Amino acid sequence: MFQADLYNFKKRGNTMKNKMGFGLLRLPETEGKPDWNKIFALTDRYLELGGTYFDTCYTYMDGVSDMAIKKALSERKPRDSFRVIEKLPGYFCSTYEDCRKYFDEELRRTGLEYFDVFMLHWLNGENYEIAERCEEFRFLKEKKEEGTALRIGFSYHDSADLLDRILTAHPEMDVVLLQVNYLDWDTAGIESRRCYETAVKHGKRVFVMEPVKGGTLADIPREAEQILRDIHSDWSPADWALRFVQSLPGVELCLSGMNELSQLEANMRSFEPLSGDETEALFRARDIITKNTEVPCTGCGYCLDHCPMGIPIPGYFRMYNELKRYPEDDWKVQPAYEQLAASHGRASDCIGCGSCEEHCPQRIEISENMKRAAELLEN
Ligand code: SF4
Ligand code: SF4
Repeated sequence: MFQADLYNFKKRGNTMKNKMGFGLLRLPETEGKPDWNKIFALTDRYLELGGTYFDTCYTYMDGVSDMAIKKALSERKPRDSFRVIEKLPGYFCSTYEDCRKYFDEELRRTGLEYFDVFMLHWLNGENYEIAERCEEFRFLKEKKEEGTALRIGFSYHDSADLLDRILTAHPEMDVVLLQVNYLDWDTAGIESRRCYETAVKHGKRVFVMEPVKGGTLADIPREAEQILRDIHSDWSPADWALRFVQSLPGVELCLSGMNELSQLEANMRSFEPLSGDETEALFRARDIITKNTEVPCTGCGYCLDHCPMGIPIPGYFRMYNELKRYPEDDWKVQPAYEQLAASHGRASDCIGCGSCEEHCPQRIEISENMKRAAELLEN
């Protein structure tokens, strides 16, 4: 049952400053190359509006995101005017020495002398074993002691129980980066709420990724949107998603990609925390979204390089979701499917190998869902 008091962030007296951080996982491009003028305009405006944190990783955009830190910030702005979160691709390491190699390369790529927050990227059961084997936590601690990492932590994609075990074993961690949004709040796959509560219980600062679930929560079923518009006609669905995450008292930072100035300006507005009634309406909308979303794909694309059949997995799931939600739109979805399938593997080409699934942060059963998508899209 919904507990209004628990979620009445307004009544609990939180004053709220904007907590938006600038995520560099997806940056604007023109003709397949980074659009540097647009990137400079966006990062400059974010700083003008009072933002400070930029989030990068060795693997984002094949290194372009690290390069963006150098070109947009290190070479153009005073060091104390911005903060950078960098991540170690610990899953590429075979030895402790490898950590040093990646760290030094990240400093060189970004043009920085220290990171404000340095994290292990993508801890899950498998990567946690690698991290322990290669003593990656010790590496982080040493970086903090020498002053090249001001705070340390990890980004996380697994169960709340494992998170509890990791934080018990590693109380030296300052920050945890979690996937938190109102759609995944109580799902068994992501466990946003339980992971958030676990991190808070251990006294950690929570940074949030995917507050709008890769844009999924910016485009919700009409019935769900109506519930929200009836309360605030001038709030977009994305505003609601960001307000929910920013209202959580343990959240220090909410990371989101911002590829358009209008989106950035909207995200940087100051917010009031949600009231109990507003949160209750949001959860009613959530139930409708859940019922109308066949595959909770965020479009991150992490699966793509692992498909031997060249299937554009997120593209097909987007079409599949759209067709399930609005069957009357088949006249536009099916030609779009045929167009994409002409230059890629078809949904029915899926051989069920499962090699995509271990790379999916949403833990989607891709091969099973691809069968269903093939039935609908190719019918
Ligand atoms: S299970 Fe299907 S979609 Fe996934 S990698 Fe294998 S062929 Fe590609
Ligand atoms: S299926 Fe998973 S890994 Fe692939 S794009 Fe969707 S969310 Fe990302």
